[in-house]
This record gives sequence, structure tokens and C-alpha cells, in this order.
Amino acid sequence: MHLTQPLHRALREGADRIATIDGTRVRRWHEVVGRVRRVATVLAGRGVEPGDRVALLAPNGDVFVDLLFGTAWAGGVLVPINTRWSAAEIAHALADSAPRVLVIDHGFLPLLPAIRDAMPQLPPVIVSGAVAEGFDDLDRLVAAAAEADERLRHGDDLAALLYTGGTTGASKGVMLSHRALLTYAMCLAGSGESAPGACMLHTAPLFHVGALSGLLASLLNRARHVFLPAFDAGAVIAAIAEHRVSDLFLVPTMLQALLDHPAFGQHDLSCVERVYYGAAPIAPALMDRAIAAMPRVGFVQGYGMTETSGSVALLQPSDHRHAAHVRSNGRAVMAIEMRIVDADDREVPAGTHGEIVVRGDAVMRGYWNRPDETAAALRGGWMHTGDVGWMDADGYVHVVDRLKDMILTGGENVFSIEVESALSHHPAVAQCAVVGRPDDRWGETVHAIVVLRAPATADDLIEHCRDRIARYKCPRSIEFRTQLPLSSAGKILKAQLREHARNGA
Ligand code: ATP
Ligand code: MG
Repeated sequence: MHLTQPLHRALREGADRIATIDGTRVRRWHEVVGRVRRVATVLAGRGVEPGDRVALLAPNGDVFVDLLFGTAWAGGVLVPINTRWSAAEIAHALADSAPRVLVIDHGFLPLLPAIRDAMPQLPPVIVSGAVAEGFDDLDRLVAAAAEADERLRHGDDLAALLYTGGTTGASKGVMLSHRALLTYAMCLAGSGESAPGACMLHTAPLFHVGALSGLLASLLNRARHVFLPAFDAGAVIAAIAEHRVSDLFLVPTMLQALLDHPAFGQHDLSCVERVYYGAAPIAPALMDRAIAAMPRVGFVQGYGMTETSGSVALLQPSDHRHAAHVRSNGRAVMAIEMRIVDADDREVPAGTHGEIVVRGDAVMRGYWNRPDETAAALRGGWMHTGDVGWMDADGYVHVVDRLKDMILTGGENVFSIEVESALSHHPAVAQCAVVGRPDDRWGETVHAIVVLRAPATADDLIEHCRDRIARYKCPRSIEFRTQLPLSSAGKILKAQLREHARNGA
């Protein structure tokens, strides 16, 4: 298996079809492949040999297609860098991955001096997006380059190094092979046939596995690709209407922003056929609202992680219409075998809580430069997800919490997500997070951090929870804030909130 296979197919089946739309720039598949072959020449000219890393720091755009496939064409390994990181974090990932070349969007050039300070042995830099004085320019280099022959690699060779979301701690480089990435893309593509003329909107960041795997899957499904540099609810609504977008992937916070936007409902969005969402837990209230607001859309929820090239389970549109399944996170994708195990890695019966473990071709080779963490995560041949869940007798998995976010109070386990679901049903609650707070008597107590959309008191919210969940699960204390700290993927940084609560907030 080779990452470029879907590209060859696109060329064979529709060289003149529209491939990518980035602002006013439209490219057809023969142009895309021509660029990919020239990018490979440029990279090889900078010393990229098979197995070498190529770092990309750019907002969403057609440059992702150029570099993802151009790097693979040259036999290299793409390292997409998180655009929300600080210069120090970027330098850390660059020092860790040691790329041969850094391709950087001109918009990030102001960060370069600070990156260089933190990492003096910075590799050669190529600037994309606009010509910058004193730097090599990607477009000019590509225009002057000859078309390279492909340097095919083995399916088990690395195609990408993706850094994890950094939600629970330091971000880790995940080694994904050609086989792993394509295996999951095929699972997703094969799970629902797109209509002819499908159009995928890329607004979630492509340096994360959810969006990147969506790009590969929609390419397999013969879609054309529209890029937005960053998420903006108004721009998403306008782009859907303008390009007749059929498919898009959103994380829950984006879905909420879309529904809350004043322009939602004022445009004809009937072209949307499928909304993929996931990468973080979704509040049931938000899911119900989305289904009610877009009754003809097929919603597909993905539960997965960087380490598995995308989702390990999918909740299909039909599952969203079944009361028994809609609150689950779906069933394992075709190429993934999933189990729930206890602390000794023994499988537990259906309905019992435990850690979710998976194996299959989509699973990572390991963490880059982290043999100990690799061995721990992949022990016994199973990828340990760090997520707690249970599986019903039909194989639907219910993700309950992260192991690290579970609260132990008075000898009882409380799953933070369950409390958040109860809270989020209150009409005054816009967003919330629940963490454990150290307590001499109970070990930990349940502490909630809430962003309100209408007036309410802590007592109102605690009372509301008591009607829905057991008393010991209800928040003991509630703190109001105007916003919650989010990771670059839009996930609530509970580790940060927990730290704050520990320090006596
Ligand atoms: P880090 O591993 O660095 O702490 P991260 O786990 O957030 O960061 P990702 O690989 O992007 O990095 O996210 C995977 C995790 O996101 C999963 O392990 C799970 O906890 C959570 N997740 C993903 N999809 C869903 C979903 N549909 N429902 C609930 N949780 C989800
Ligand atoms: Mg993780």
C-alpha cells in the first residue's frame, strides 16, 4: 500500500475534474499530480531521501495536498506541525522529528526568529503562500522543477509523523505507516458511498488525524476538496452555500459554533449530506440539537485517536435514529478489533467498564523517540487507548471517560463526562468541564467549571444534576468562567483545570 495510490486513481479516472479549491485558486487532478511530482523533485534537491522527515507549518490549504503527496512521492515522511503552538512548542517538535526541510507558510515567518532561537540547527526553510525576501519560495521552485519519478516505499514504512493533541500531557509524535493511513481511510470511505460530485470542506485543522484521514477518505470517494484556512462559523456557512459542500468534518465545539451562528438557517445548506463529527466527547444536548436543526443530514460520529490513524469506531447515520445506539460511540471499523479489558489486561464481559484496547493495521508503529511509552501503549500487541468504556452485546462501544479524567470520590468512580452531560442539559449552561478536586475526607470531590449563556446559580445547577444522576456524582463546587481553556483541536484542557482546582481555586 502506498499513500499516493488514491492520487493515481484520481488522475486515471478524472484528470480534468476539479480537485482542490483554495480561495480563488482552482486546480484539476492533472495539475495536482504535476505539482506533486515537482514538489518531490524540490524535496529531493534539498536532500530528502526515503525515510527523511519533511515538516509543514501551514494553515489548511492546497499546500497540504502538495506536501502530503509530494513528500510521499519522494519517499519521505510528512510532519504536519500544529499551527496553534508557540514558537517553543514548534521548535520542540522540530528538534524531536529532525526534518530535512521545513515548509512554512509566509504568515508564520514572524515566528521564525523565536523558533530559530530555541532550535539553532533549523533545517533549510522553504516559504509557501507568498514570496518572502531572502527565502526560497515554494511556487517558484516548483515552477522550475522537473517531474520526479516516484520513490515507492513499503506499506509498513512511515508516511507521516503526527503529534497527539496534547490534551493529557506533552504531545507525542505518532509513527503512521502508508498501510495504517490507507487502511483507515478505506474503512471510512467504504462505510458510506458518497454521491457523485461530492465536495468535502476542510475547516478542521489538517495537522490533526481526524481532518487528515477525512481528506484521504474523501479522496478515495472521488470528492473535490475545498479548504478554509481556519475554522470560522460564518465562513463555513458561506463556503457550504458557495461550493455546494456535501461533506464536512467538525469537532463538537465547531458544531456548536455553527448552530449558534446568526447566519445558520439563513442560507440554503440543503447540499450537505454528511457531517462527520468527533475527536472529543459530544454533549447529548448538542447532538440532539444538531439532528433537529439538520434533519436530512447523515451524521457520522468518529471515536478514535492519532495512534490509530483516525477513528476506531463509527456511529453511522442509521445508528443516530436508534434510541438504543445514539448515545454510544458506534461500532469498531472493519479493520479494527476492539476489546474492553481490566487493569490486568483481561477481557471483561459485555456491559462492564474497562480500558478500551484495539489492534489492527491502522494502529501506529509507535511513538517517535519514545520506546518506553511505545512499549507501554502497545503491550501485549494491543493499543491501550487510555479511554474507559464499555461495550454492549451488539458491539457498540460507550466511551465513558479518559482514565486520567476519572474522579475517585469516597471510593466511587465518577466519570467526568457523565456529570458534564447532566450539566449541559441545563438551558443556562453553554459549556462545562468537570474535574476532581483533592479532598481530605473524600479523596477527591466533583468540581465543575461552567460557562453560562443565561443567569443561573451554583445551587440551581447542582439541583438540576440531582434530578438526573446519583447524588455522589453531582458537583460539590461550581466555578463560573467566561470561557474554558481549549487545545488547538478545540478540546477542553481538563488537565489545566484540574491543576487549577488542585491549587485551591
Ligand atoms: P494526548 O494523547 O496528547 O493527551 P489527545 O488524546 O487529545 O491528546 P488525540 O489523539 O487527538 O489526542 O485524541 C484522541 C482522544 O480523543 C481519544 O483517546 C479520546 O479520549 C478522545 N475522543 C476522540 N473521539 C471521541 C469521541 N467521539 N467521543 C469521546 N471522546 C473522543
Ligand atoms: Mg491521547
